[in-house]
Amino acid sequence: MSTIRCANCGADNVAGAQFCAACGAALVTPAGPPPAPPTYPAAPQQAPAAYPAPPWAMQPTPQQGTGTATAALVLGIVGLLAWLLPLIGLPVNVIGIVLGALGRRGPSKGTATAGLVCSVIGLGLTIINGIAGAIMMVNLMHGR
Ligand SMILES: [Zn+2]
Repeated sequence: MSTIRCANCGADNVAGAQFCAACGAALVTPAGPPPAPPTYPAAPQQAPAAYPAPPWAMQPTPQQGTGTATAALVLGIVGLLAWLLPLIGLPVNVIGIVLGALGRRGPSKGTATAGLVCSVIGLGLTIINGIAGAIMMVNLMHGR
């Protein structure tokens, strides 16, 4: 049982009493009726807003990897068509291989791999075509 000391006369009164039994002064309860500040209930509601972002949300945006993989596939397909012209096919295939290798680190691994394979095939065809073209040029020059 706790008691309340009267601020006016210093007498101890039963906890919960509103007036001093000795002098009749109004008692200010130390624990008192909780004022219940209106700002207090707002604090727990603000907690979720300050929730730290989970680590997986900080990963690089998937769009970038998807774009690289898609570009690698497009370049690979273009390279397969452009190998007839080594001047065009060679840079296209080299870029396609680079982008394919980069894209395989991203989420679109299958697309990037497809682009990488297409670019490698295209590069091989481009080199063969370039060598064949060079041999043909040499033969033509020797023929004259
Ligand atoms: Zn009193």
